[in-house]
Amino acid sequence: MPTYEYGCLDCRKRVSIYQTYDEYGRVAVHCPLCGSANLKRLISRVRIAKSEEARMEDLSDPSAWGDFDEEDPRSMARMMRKMGHELGEDMPPEFDEVVDRLESGQSPEEIEESMPDLGDMGGGDHFDAGF
Ligand SMILES: [Zn+2]
Repeated sequence: MPTYEYGCLDCRKRVSIYQTYDEYGRVAVHCPLCGSANLKRLISRVRIAKSEEARMEDLSDPSAWGDFDEEDPRSMARMMRKMGHELGEDMPPEFDEVVDRLESGQSPEEIEESMPDLGDMGGGDHFDAGF
């Protein structure tokens, strides 16, 4: 659940309020310190960092991948594309090649064998998940 930062216009404190995406903008928020409804939304770095963390949590939940099937290279390719998209990062060229090969039906083992540099790819643990 994302945290939204507000500044209270009455007690002049900065407060963090948990709201779901659904609640945000539709449900009135009140200052947890003084109960005032005079809250002004703040855009903060903290919030952005938290929302990225939340997205990572989504990605680490296999049920969020839908019909992901680790035995099916095409399914894995879809998941990797989705993951790359969600992270919003510039993926190394190897990433695209791996995804393309998965989509063409090659097994991860085959790809790994033909791409010895793959170990350096991305530098993150999440790429190990399906291999
Ligand atoms: Zn207040």
